Amino acid sequence: MTGIEIFKLLPKKNCKECGQATCLAFAMALAAAKTSLDKCPYASDACKETLGGAAAPPIKLVKIGAGDKVREMGDETIIFRHDKSFVHPTCYAIEIDDNACNDAAIDAINGLVFERVGQTVSVDAFALKNASGDAATFAAAAKAIATKGKFAIVLMADNADVIEAALKECAAEKPLVYAATEQNWGQMAELAKKYEVPLAVKGHDLNSTSDLVEQVAKVYTDLVIDTGAQGLSQQIAELTQVRRLAVKKKYRPFGYPSMAVADTDDAQYNVVLATGYTSKYASLVVLKACEKSQILPLLSWRMNLYTDPQKPSQVVPDIYSIGDTSPDSPVFCTTNFSLTYYSVEGELSSAKVPLYMIAAPTDGTSVLTAYAAGKFTADNVAAFMKEIDLENKVATRTIVIPGYVAVMKGALEEKSGWKVVVAPSEASGLRAFTKANFA
Ligand code: SF4
Repeated sequence: MTGIEIFKLLPKKNCKECGQATCLAFAMALAAAKTSLDKCPYASDACKETLGGAAAPPIKLVKIGAGDKVREMGDETIIFRHDKSFVHPTCYAIEIDDNACNDAAIDAINGLVFERVGQTVSVDAFALKNASGDAATFAAAAKAIATKGKFAIVLMADNADVIEAALKECAAEKPLVYAATEQNWGQMAELAKKYEVPLAVKGHDLNSTSDLVEQVAKVYTDLVIDTGAQGLSQQIAELTQVRRLAVKKKYRPFGYPSMAVADTDDAQYNVVLATGYTSKYASLVVLKACEKSQILPLLSWRMNLYTDPQKPSQVVPDIYSIGDTSPDSPVFCTTNFSLTYYSVEGELSSAKVPLYMIAAPTDGTSVLTAYAAGKFTADNVAAFMKEIDLENKVATRTIVIPGYVAVMKGALEEKSGWKVVVAPSEASGLRAFTKANFA
């Protein structure tokens, strides 16, 4: 709605209680999504009903998990990342059968936590499947995961009685119930409402999913959508249509986070499917893969996709110590692009030689990009060495620069008065280079 259309619905008291100078200013701010209707205490019920829907986000924010296990999904407003940025990274739920849910299986999923580019990344949930068909087995497994698991829970069963048995053990963990279908939606919606947990709604195509969501939403609205698509191409096509209809058309039945279940037993292919669903546009993916070597590439892909393209990933330009440094420790120089910094830092750490790293200010760009843009030059590096008072922190007068900018060796020696040593171009060569030259 335009600001003028919204203005016509407001009380026009111009009382300023909403923080705006006039009702018209408030209407304009509301149209631009810079304020919310609840700031006006005098808005009528009719106004709230009309504007509430118009002002609501195109995709509802839905949470699974509780406490430090909570994960947020949805609240996305764009189709393409370069339009702005994606908000909530896709959650990964690792499938585990209730009749194989022992301590070792829980620990294996708990262990899917990694340090990458200075951040801790992990999977997000256990997807507990009722493979046994037995309510007591399912409930016991839910209790074990709630007690020992580090992540949120997705409860996967067709039978509402089985789901309720598990909810009695783990409702405080706010698990996602999967799923309300055409056969069971009434019971599942009542359960979700009773235990105040999110509910997945599963159709068998776009039309049936839309109809089903409309029915369920009359009872409960903390929903996640599964269109029931099978296979990579159909799944991506339907996930894309759901996102487009929600964001571009504000089609309310699809205004919830979407999810996909990888439908293959091949763990490696599960990762391939999950990568596709992450790209377009699943908020939650259930997959059967729990080897670290399978999950880390997936998490890396998610990190890349959910990095805000308008905010380069960077570390603070400064001098950093690696190991038990002394004034005699060597100095390595790189840029402050996070990926470059942490790649170099990882390789240098593995050499087990105490040393300093300086991360020069290049606005979060990599070595060659920064050099080409004139941000990583002999002048800039020499000036930064002065700025951080390197001369008084380090007794050595030798600095190591990346092999890709070997061309600035002479100029940097001239500008800084330090001896410049050229390292290998690739970070993978740094460990051997450091051991050979500085151990
Ligand atoms: Fe107008 Fe409501 Fe703001 Fe008062 S609080 S100025 S009535 S919009």
